Amino acid sequence: MNLNIADTFNKVLSPDRNLENTRRKVFGAMFSFVTPKVPTSPKLIHASPEMIKNLGIKNNEVDSDAFLNIFSGAEVYKNTHPYAMAYAGHQFGNWAGQLGDGRAINLFEVQHNQKRWAVQLKGAGETPYSRQGDGLAVLRSSVREYLCSEAMHHLGVPTTRALSLISSGDNVLRDMLYNGNAAYEKGAIVCRVAPSFIRFGNFELFASRNDTESLKKLTDYTIKHFYPELGTPSKDVYIHFFKAVTDKTLKMIIHWQRVGFVHGVMNTDNMSILGLTIDYGPYGWLEGFDFGWTPNTTDREHKRYRYGNQPNIALWNLLQLANALYPLVEEAKPFETILNYYQKDFETQFLDMMRSKLGLDIKAEGDKQLIKDLEDCLLLSETDMTIFYRLLSNHEKGSVDEGIKTVQAAFYNPEEIRDDKKKKWEVWFNTYDKRLNSESLTDSERQLKMNAINPKYVLRNYMAQLAIDKANEGDYSLIDELFKMLKKPYNNQPENQKWFAKRPEWARHKAGCSMLSCSS
Ligand code: AMP
Ligand code: MG
Repeated sequence: MNLNIADTFNKVLSPDRNLENTRRKVFGAMFSFVTPKVPTSPKLIHASPEMIKNLGIKNNEVDSDAFLNIFSGAEVYKNTHPYAMAYAGHQFGNWAGQLGDGRAINLFEVQHNQKRWAVQLKGAGETPYSRQGDGLAVLRSSVREYLCSEAMHHLGVPTTRALSLISSGDNVLRDMLYNGNAAYEKGAIVCRVAPSFIRFGNFELFASRNDTESLKKLTDYTIKHFYPELGTPSKDVYIHFFKAVTDKTLKMIIHWQRVGFVHGVMNTDNMSILGLTIDYGPYGWLEGFDFGWTPNTTDREHKRYRYGNQPNIALWNLLQLANALYPLVEEAKPFETILNYYQKDFETQFLDMMRSKLGLDIKAEGDKQLIKDLEDCLLLSETDMTIFYRLLSNHEKGSVDEGIKTVQAAFYNPEEIRDDKKKKWEVWFNTYDKRLNSESLTDSERQLKMNAINPKYVLRNYMAQLAIDKANEGDYSLIDELFKMLKKPYNNQPENQKWFAKRPEWARHKAGCSMLSCSS
């Protein structure tokens, strides 16, 4: 296997001079060199054909010992120097100090087809940043990250990617529900890939220590490599950089709201400086539409990271990034202006996105109200978000009476749609139907457009859990089945009709299906 290694991060930025793998605070450095743990008996579970191609790996190399060894951490690729990144962060609204890659180890950067990819192992052993953790990951959370990050890419959501999922052959002790019932689980390693894994927290670390020299070095590096269009770093360029990060972050959030993705742990150390969805932990997908839903049991009380709060939290996180970048600019006003624009831009972009979900091309006066009324209707009785929007595309102009029937299969308790609730839906369909009259598209043209925005298949929480249960028994067939289906989430796939269905009742309160903890 020949990779075109093109390291920059660990070549141009400052390393930690201490080469021991002991847990510690690291100062004045962007990363620490570290060697991945050699797994006991690594086995390849799955690899992403697209990412294999993107990295310039040949198909017949995927089953080689070299592939298995390098992407499980058993072997370090020639002339490369793996490392863990130093970063800090705000967790659940509180300053948490130094965090860093506690169980992620960056292997190298690869350049292929004019693209740069940073390649990283998650779950490959401890680093100086592991704090109380073991640096490992269990099969359960690795399957979830592997499947979801690739699925998000195919949904058109900016995200980190995944190259491979490998079982380590080691057992990992986890208290899955944090209830004192720790048990051994199978260990695994995901190889994940992105142009860069730099987070808001990388900048916060240096700002919090008044280490402006390191802050500047890191910011200049980020601009040079990932925002080169901004030009040579200067005070103005730092402001433009913050604006660009804000815009990318907002775009990502709009996508999350569109597909019903709830990240679950939007701490600033989990916010990518490239506006990518990063760190798939206790994430989840809306089944019943609900602004207040979060899959993360650790956040059960305040629901800080609930679906409806994601846009506000992104703004809060951007404010922390602004604070971190401030020493480079020493003027607050430009940052404030950008943050104020976020609010306005969010409203405009959210409205446009919702119009597209409804198949509306023209911008009409009453659209905001139409969308608000729809949200109210969706909350009347448990209504599956994905199924609702997909079925709505079947609506035929003029057939208002059929409206409720068209989307009937999205209701978890269809018998609840009567009296007042029925009336409200009828009024909404009436307004929607009238609104469609101002559009020029035919029903089938509108359907085509709506179906390219509203996915038919998402990785519902129970689907991932079914794949995990099988994988724990050594059967990886469902991982492959879901992986393939989720590559074409907008297509009608008759052979996969069974996955276009509401969450089964057994999954409503089952761990892993509706509730997830940070334990991974
Ligand atoms: P997360 O909640 O997964 O974003 O993790 C927050 C911080 O805890 C990061 O610094 C992680 O690297 C670290 N961390 C999470 N799980 C582990 C683990 N099992 N071992 C070491 N560090 C961990
Ligand atoms: Mg994280």
